[in-house]
Amino acid sequence: MPTPHAGEPYLLTPGPLTTAWSVKQAMLRDWGSWDDDFRGMTGEIRERLLAMVDDADEKFDCVPMQGSGTFAVEAMLGSLLPRDSKALVLSNGAYGQRTAKILHYLGRAYKLLDKGDYLPPRGDEVAAALAADPSITHVVAIHCETSSGILNPIEEISRATYAAGCTLLIDSMSAFGAVPLSCQSVRYDALVSSANKCIEGVPGFGFVIARQSLLEASRGCSHSLSLDLHDQWMTLQSTGQWRFTPPTHTVAAFIEALRLHQLEGGVHARGARYTANRDTLVDGMRQLGFETLLRDRWLSPIIVTFFNPAHPAFDFQVFYTRMKQRGFIIYPGKLTVVDSFRIGCIGQLDTHVMRRVVTAVAESLADMGVDCADPPGAAFAEREKLSS
Ligand SMILES: *Cc1c(COP(=O)(O)O)cnc(C)c1O
Repeated sequence: MPTPHAGEPYLLTPGPLTTAWSVKQAMLRDWGSWDDDFRGMTGEIRERLLAMVDDADEKFDCVPMQGSGTFAVEAMLGSLLPRDSKALVLSNGAYGQRTAKILHYLGRAYKLLDKGDYLPPRGDEVAAALAADPSITHVVAIHCETSSGILNPIEEISRATYAAGCTLLIDSMSAFGAVPLSCQSVRYDALVSSANKCIEGVPGFGFVIARQSLLEASRGCSHSLSLDLHDQWMTLQSTGQWRFTPPTHTVAAFIEALRLHQLEGGVHARGARYTANRDTLVDGMRQLGFETLLRDRWLSPIIVTFFNPAHPAFDFQVFYTRMKQRGFIIYPGKLTVVDSFRIGCIGQLDTHVMRRVVTAVAESLADMGVDCADPPGAAFAEREKLSS
């Protein structure tokens, strides 16, 4: 894969991420939002995204929403959770906590199943939580919890949800497009993702893919005009236009990103490239002594969290700067208990780039005088105890 371009570092972050040159180039013209050409582009992205969930036997629709991913999450929750609903929020990191916070702002009743930083919510735990509280109507799950990089077991969560007669909404922000989420194999009623994650577009909008019956029932439910998914959907259906100014350049870039996604071989091929990236990264980092926060079983192909080395000369800020000087932007940790950092595997990266990342890590450690990258014994022992 070509280097981004002269002097531009690779973004080893889960969006914004390193995009293809042709994606950047697609933004070099202006579009009228009311014009037929742009309406056609909006229709094309909705159709192509819908094709990824394979809704041949079921009627789903795709509604794009301006803003960062969180705007689309809030639009989904505020519009698709009836005001008298009660949600079970499955949390194991910052994005699960954010979902709970949104529901708090919206005044929707919810219960939190909090698994901390290391562990996935399992099907039997979801079943038990739903059995213990029959007033729960919906389950909200995070597909890949980007704060730790854990890939949550969405199939068993789905089975437990529908066995209890509840409805599943999925934040698949950082997984959609690389981890299969066909509605033929996993049952759910809505998912949300955004332009700047695994489809490898630039930031500017998110999208909700939902069962049409759910969208129809959501009329008048939203607390917010600008985040009203039903209203946005109706306007798109009747005029082909977004309500309010759309991110025209982002949409143009996204069309090109979708073209490249298909050219690569779609969801499976993209997932395979990210998986190879992760394996190259994790193998190389372990050879340097680093250890992952998660056991292999729960590692996603999206982003990997590593313990900071216990060595007294290790300093994350210095490490970050040294990595940047070598052309790589890494990501600080987002955990509550242990010191960690993250390296993303998504974007225009392949295993050649990942090998260079490992070399840059080794050189940056040498700069700092860190000759051993072993994690703190206590933190690692805690992982072994907790995540078995
Ligand atoms: C990126 C992401 C979001 C949205 O974050 P924004 O910063 O608002 O784009 C939501 N959930 C998950 C799991 C994410 O990875």
